Amino acid sequence: MPTKVTARYVLGHHNGRHVLLENACVVYSGHTIEYVGHDYTGPVDEERRLGDALLMPGLIDLDALTDIDHLILDSWAGAEQAKGHQWSEDYFRNRADVFTAEERQQIREYALIQLVLHGITTYMPIASEVHSEWAEPLEELVGMAETSSRLGLRAFLGPAYRSGVNVVLDTGERSVMFDDDRGRDGLADALRFIDHANELRDPLVNAVLLPCRIETLDIELLKATAAAASERNVLVRLHSLQGLVERELILDWHGVTPLELLDQVGLLNERLLIPHATYTDRNPAVHGEDRGDLARLADSGASIIHCPLTSMRYGSTLDSFNAYKEAGINISLGTDSFPPDLIRGIDAGVQLAKILAGTNDAGDVAGYIDAATLGGAHALRRPDLGRLEPGAQADMVAFSLADIRDGVHDDPLRTLLLNGTARQAVLSVVAGRTIMADGVIAGVDLDHWRLKGQELFEKMRSAYTVRDARNRPADELFPPVYARLER
Ligand SMILES: [Zn+2]
Repeated sequence: MPTKVTARYVLGHHNGRHVLLENACVVYSGHTIEYVGHDYTGPVDEERRLGDALLMPGLIDLDALTDIDHLILDSWAGAEQAKGHQWSEDYFRNRADVFTAEERQQIREYALIQLVLHGITTYMPIASEVHSEWAEPLEELVGMAETSSRLGLRAFLGPAYRSGVNVVLDTGERSVMFDDDRGRDGLADALRFIDHANELRDPLVNAVLLPCRIETLDIELLKATAAAASERNVLVRLHSLQGLVERELILDWHGVTPLELLDQVGLLNERLLIPHATYTDRNPAVHGEDRGDLARLADSGASIIHCPLTSMRYGSTLDSFNAYKEAGINISLGTDSFPPDLIRGIDAGVQLAKILAGTNDAGDVAGYIDAATLGGAHALRRPDLGRLEPGAQADMVAFSLADIRDGVHDDPLRTLLLNGTARQAVLSVVAGRTIMADGVIAGVDLDHWRLKGQELFEKMRSAYTVRDARNRPADELFPPVYARLER
């Protein structure tokens, strides 16, 4: 028997586009949506009335932090401090895991709970390898897949791997130090994880290849990744086109741009997801004009993962959302750091697009909402996600608009973006299962996780000192806003 959810506003899907329905309902049965509209008269098993809320497709976050927050520490640094956030040459030779295997599982659970609470229903994880001895062990991802399934999120997972680590050399220059065997072993583990995920036969656990960053993979590993993706028919997400250091290293080593390298090694195709993609030739720090990169990206069928809030907080932005979209590039969204708040992310992106264009009508709210839903689904090659229409997966989120602080309702999407946050999520459903209602996740003690998260964060923060070439204390690497007055 079906379940019916009614809300003041429903973002449905009709003839290939999102449409807004007022005083409407979504009816689903099992994993699948059966009806979206104003009048459902059939029998229902259960009915949930959300009142003044916006019910919409669950948010798809393809660069989702499944780690402890580090942006709170490292998004303020000047050049000298920033060097202390990377590994030193000495640490590369004497590296160690900061966390135990058990703590790593706790970190994953903490982070996944945060995704649920912020209305994300589908995610592809990103972790910070900076506090790992190398990258992500197979067992860690096997454990994470279990936690993810228990919480009920839809996951696209795999162990991150790399053959090199970003370091600050003794000369003070940024570079990468390599151990190619570790990269090969990492890819072998990633392939084992694909087998593992297939054996689970859990529709919520999907295997993908998640190599770390283009400059941390040797050329053979890039080629082997492309070959494995094609052979296994799986997606690949690879951080690239995300910074000048990366661009210069790739030009120096291979004599081509990162985008050309992706093409040369066989990765630039519809299976590829590129987080950030901010350093194409349009970028003012590159050529300041499009010399064909956007068309090349669009023609390849690859998707980009735009992370507006994180980019802004590290002082950059996609230049521009509108230009990439007009070029025909599929744009999906990611949060990339804490908080995993795509509502605030979309607001940041929309306002930055206005600044870049110098005109208010460049604020493409629909384009951004599409990216968070349909764009993500397209990147995942899952047309049954990201839309509320009969036959689609019953993945949805509702944001309350019932608080006086939400202000007035005009278009509810604008009210939510301008005045709100993803913290207003009051219902989250994945494949027909309610995974969060009224801020409560069944079986999860949020107070416990709040304290646990802080404990793990303190451990991570204090570990920067040993990696810094100058072994500076954490308070020097991360100076407080105001000096602390001791009692
Ligand atoms: Zn990222």
